[in-house]
Order: sequence, then structure tokens, then C-alpha cells
Amino acid sequence: MPRDPRYDLLFEPVRIGPVVAKNRFYQVPHCNGMGYARPHGHAAMRGVKAEGGWAVVSTEEVDIHPSSDISPYIEGRLWDDHDIPALALVTEAIHRHGALAAIELVHAGMNASNLYSREVSLAPDHVPSAAGYAPSQARAMTRSDIRAFRRWHREAALRARRAGFNIIYVYAGHGLSLPMHFLQSRHNHRTDEYGGSLANRMRLLRELIEDTKDAVGLNCAVAVRFAVDEMRGADGIEAQLEGREVIERLAELPDLWDVNVSDWSNDSKTSRFAPEGYQEEFVRFVKTVTTKPVVGVGRFTSPDTMVSQIRRGVLDFIGAARPSIADPFLPKKIENGEVDDIRECIGCNICVTGDYTMTPIRCTQNPTMGEEWRKGWHPEAIPPRRGDDSFLIVGAGPSGLECARLLGRRGYSVHVAEAGEQLGGRVTVESRLPGLAAWARVRDYRLNQINKLPNVEIFRGSHVTPDQVLEFGATRIVLATGARWRRDGVGRYNTRPIPGFEQCQRVFSPDDLLNGAAPSGRVVVFDDDHFYLGALLAEKLRADGLEVCLVTPAERASAWTVNTLEQYAIQKRLLKIGVRVFTNRNVAQFDGAGATLECTYTERRETLAADSLVTVTARLPNTELAEGLDLGAEALAAAGIRSIQSIGDCLAPSTIAAAVYAGHRYAREFDWPDTDEVPFQRELPASIAGRSHSG
Ligand code: ADP
Ligand code: SF4
Repeated sequence: MPRDPRYDLLFEPVRIGPVVAKNRFYQVPHCNGMGYARPHGHAAMRGVKAEGGWAVVSTEEVDIHPSSDISPYIEGRLWDDHDIPALALVTEAIHRHGALAAIELVHAGMNASNLYSREVSLAPDHVPSAAGYAPSQARAMTRSDIRAFRRWHREAALRARRAGFNIIYVYAGHGLSLPMHFLQSRHNHRTDEYGGSLANRMRLLRELIEDTKDAVGLNCAVAVRFAVDEMRGADGIEAQLEGREVIERLAELPDLWDVNVSDWSNDSKTSRFAPEGYQEEFVRFVKTVTTKPVVGVGRFTSPDTMVSQIRRGVLDFIGAARPSIADPFLPKKIENGEVDDIRECIGCNICVTGDYTMTPIRCTQNPTMGEEWRKGWHPEAIPPRRGDDSFLIVGAGPSGLECARLLGRRGYSVHVAEAGEQLGGRVTVESRLPGLAAWARVRDYRLNQINKLPNVEIFRGSHVTPDQVLEFGATRIVLATGARWRRDGVGRYNTRPIPGFEQCQRVFSPDDLLNGAAPSGRVVVFDDDHFYLGALLAEKLRADGLEVCLVTPAERASAWTVNTLEQYAIQKRLLKIGVRVFTNRNVAQFDGAGATLECTYTERRETLAADSLVTVTARLPNTELAEGLDLGAEALAAAGIRSIQSIGDCLAPSTIAAAVYAGHRYAREFDWPDTDEVPFQRELPASIAGRSHSG
């Protein structure tokens, strides 16, 4: 289909210093948990972005020196020439599809804990290390340290050029690098020419830009990533004060401004906390003070919003990390008039958890993300049907729908039976909670794709029994029947039922609430799940006007959401709306009049008056159908069934991302031989790969 002429603007080439981007789609730097440790995986992932039409594809932060070692996190490294080949893999993959390759050079300063290199960390001043609560300090840089740092940065720029990069970044974003630490008056108390006035505090940033231009500026563009606002008021850089002044003073020095807000949790806000385009109010001034092209982000997935950003003079490039993760082919789909095929990011930040857990990136919407090399998965291409199998999928949640979409794309005949009248399973139910509306995109994308496939049929209101499965006549049965929340309190902390829970009518599970039950009076939400749901239900009940306490055995509310960058915002919101938060407390008992809380350290008990209790602890997979079909190979063969497989939450409850992944994986791998082999390619250390061990 030809593209909509309204979007022509997005496909204009734009000059960036000595290079030209073929369109306005710019994949800004983003981490991915592969970095220096898994270079083939990293290169293949960036290559797919380039193939999907992004004019510029950037690396994540790439540390330039052993004193900038942010272990245990896995980012890029460019410490010396040995790191060039791994990065050259990345530039080759990007260039193969006609995109420009950008590298974000970083010295993390006091954010580098240097746990691997054991170097001393560097900072404008003597300050405690910013990496967690590590009992170590960074030391104040002397003038000769600054000279050395400038030399390392220059050498890194030259190496980056040798690795094939076209755009080289000087990084002053997110509060994560030395030039930014020098800029921040709260971190820079120097009395020399690098401290004091703004002109002094920005001296290092200016010098780095000049050094980089001098070193590689003839054939590489020099970009600056700068956080114009730190969202911490007068204690930090503010867009209308020093943020603006920095850009005014350096306006024409770099070839491109990549601007955002800081810290990372503010830059990558989830959809629960910010809508598409949320950074506009902070960055819109930038184009008024520079003639250089400007890239900015805001979880852009709508081409109309993108066009509006350009037309209104807010941005020159549509920057994207998450939208390019959820759909690496977003530009191509707009270009080809396939806008309704875009797999829109839902803003859940599961992608960020890869970085935080030091594992390859994953995405709720795009199950192929991070699997491009190790499994050879492509977000758009899939091998066609082999053989005559036909499928019955039971359950139309995220797992069942993804499985149906992909099997249907392969050309198989697929029937989906869903007990309820609505499709989407947990995603449909949870997307009605405050702030989660965008999560319904997980369902909508898949239904939209399935509706285009004549070989996939969905039956609603069809609660399926084992006998019906046997009679159905499909050769492959996929069970995607989901899970339900426990009501007995068993979870991580309590391995046995909590006294009173099962007997008491005033104990509610999340399923009860999501299906319309309404607790009353004073409510205790007991969260031993630690992800988003407990705090979100507390927020909802509070919004309904109830008195709410959140009790958790963890040391903070929604503890696991540190990995999605949301923990601080969640706890702040709870406290602001008047939810009392009890941490390091277990609920030892509940009787409809009060909850007995127990300190997780001292076992000291106290009673909290409460009329209702919501228990968010663990889930039980819905295995009834699987158990009813556990009839042995002969009985199944007699019914013409070759295999029965449970996927997603009905196998083991997990994230929505894991459920989508399971559905996707089944559709690709259902007919693989049953072996004990590792089910993906691994990147083994070069010094050891190929050696055999004979015991
Ligand atoms: P997942 O995240 O693994 O996809 P969900 O809980 O979101 O799981 O979705 C499971 C879906 O399966 C729900 O929509 C549920 O109504 C449906 N389901 C469960 N049991 C049956 C059954 N026996 N027959 C048909 N549909 C079922
Ligand atoms: Fe978007 Fe979530 Fe995918 Fe990240 S994991 S790209 S936030 S859908």
C-alpha cells in the first residue's frame, strides 16, 4: 500500500553535520543487557532496527575507560583496541541496511562502581559512590585527571570511527556521566576554572565537544545528549534556567542535539505515569535557540503525533527507544501504508528490566526482541507452514492470542476457544485499572492481526471441557487457560496458609476486585507479590474513598518495580494520596476486625484495625483442563491428537511478557524434536570457545 502523504514529512532526509540521515526516524541510545558481553546478540538486534527503517541506530552507553566500569551492569565498552571488533559487528549490521550508526561514549564518573576493574572512581569532588550503597568514594579529579579524561574521550572517538560509527556522542544525559556531574552545582563544588559559575561548570562539556569535533568531525557527526531538566526543581538543572542556558551557549557547537529529561526514571516514564509526548513541555525551547537538528523522545507510536512534533517545530527527528523495541519495523510500516500493523509500545518498561537484571532485553509486545541472534527470530518474518497440523488453542489471553496470531501467519488452521465473552484475558481486565489503559494494546494488536487471517477463528463464550477437546478433531492442542490469584495468603513469605484468610468473607483476592467486588471500611492490602498490582489496587481503593494500608514483607512498596524504574514514583504516589505503607511487616492473621502484623526482623506483633483485606501473594495455574486431558499417548492418538502443550500462566504464572513469549515460542518451535540441547545459541568467551573438555 502506498504511504499516506500526510506522513511524507517523516521521510525527508536530514543533514547532521557531515552525514545525512535518510529520514526522521532516530533510534536513540538504549541499553539492552547484551553490550560488551553478547556482541553478536547486540549486533543482530541493532541490525533489525536498521532493517526496519530507522535512519539512525545508536548503541547504548559505551564506557570509554576502565575507571568507567559500571559492572555488574552490561553496557558497551571501548576501553582499548580490543573492543573495536565487537562494535564493528554492530556498525556492519546497521550499515547493511543503509542506516547511520551512532555511538554514545560515556565516562560514568561516580556512577561507575569499578567492581570489575578495581580502579578508583572519578568525580568533580570527593563524594560517595553513587552506585547503590557501596561503601566507597569517588575522588575529586585534579587538572591532570581532567586532561587525561579528555585524552581518553578523544581516543575513544577515534576508535569509534575506526569501528565504523558515523555519529559520535558526547553524553551529558540522565546524570550518569562526568560532563553532567561537572554541570550539576550540587555535585560540583570546585573552586578552579571547572567549578563555580555555569560557564566554568560547562567548560568540560564544551571541551569534549571541541575535542571530538577536532578528532573525528571531518567525517563523523558529533551529537550531544543532554538532559535539559532534572525534574528536581532548583536543586538540579531546570529547562527554563541552566538547561536553556547550556544550549544557548553551546547552540551551534555540536552537529545535533539529542535532548531529554533526567534521571532515567523520568526519561523513560511508564504509561502509568506519563502519556505519549510527555517531554514536549521541557524540550520545545531547544529548536528556538539552535539551528542544529534536534532529536527528542516521548514514547512516540502515533505517526500523527510524530508529524505534529515536526510541523510545530518541536523536533527534527522522532527519537525512540521503546517504540523501536516494541516494533523495530515502525518506520517501514508507516512508509508502506501499514500503520494499523504497528505493534505499539505499551509503556510497561519490561524492556528496562533486562538492563537491571543484567540479562538480554525482552519486550512485552515484541517477543522476538533480544532473540534475533540467539534464536534467529525476526519480528516480521516467520517460516511458513510445514505439514498438515491443525490447532485448537484454549484461552484467548496474551499467550493464546500471540500463539494464534503466529500460527495463523504461518498458514495453519487455528481455532481459539475462549470461555468468556471478552478476549484478552488478564490484559483486558488489568487495563481497566488506573493508568494501565495502554496495556490493552497487547490484545488489540493481536486481534487486529488475527482478523486479517481467514484461517484463524475465535469462539467466544466457549468454556471447553476435556471431552470437547478430544472430539474437536485438531491434531495439536494448546492450553493457554491462565491463572487465578490465591486467597489463602501463601506466597513468598508465607509458605503455609495465613490463619483466618480462607474462612473470612472479608478477604478478597485481586480477581475478586477485578471482577467487581468492592471491599468496604478500612482496607489492608497485603502485598507479597511485589510487582505493580498490590500498590495499584491500593491506589484504586483509595481513589474510591476508602482508608487503605499497604502491608508488605519487603523493604519497600512494589519492590520489584525498581527494575521498571517505577518504584520511587509508586511509593511517592501511595504516600501522597494517603495510603499508609507498612514495610518489613507480614500479615500473620486476619479475622474481619483487624489484621495482626508481624515485624519480619523481630517478630514483634501489633494489631491494625481493618474491616477488609485484599491479599496479593501468588497465583495458581488453571490446570483443570490439562489434568483432564492427561490420558496417556494411546487415548490421545485415538482422538487424532499429536500433542498437548500448556503455555503461559497456566504452565507457570509470570509476566505478560513471558506469556506472550511462550505463545510465540510455541508457534515457532512446536514441531522441533524433543532434545536436551540448550535451546539457543550462546556467546562463549573467545579465549575458551572451541576448546573441548574430556574430563
Ligand atoms: P495468559 O497470560 O497465560 O495468556 P490469561 O489468564 O490472561 O493467561 O488468559 C487465559 C484465558 O483463558 C482467559 O481469558 C480465560 O477465560 C480462558 N480460559 C480458561 N479456561 C478456559 C477453558 N476451559 N475454556 C476456554 N477458555 C478458558
Ligand atoms: Fe514498550 Fe513494554 Fe516493550 Fe518496553 S517492554 S518496549 S515499555 S512494550
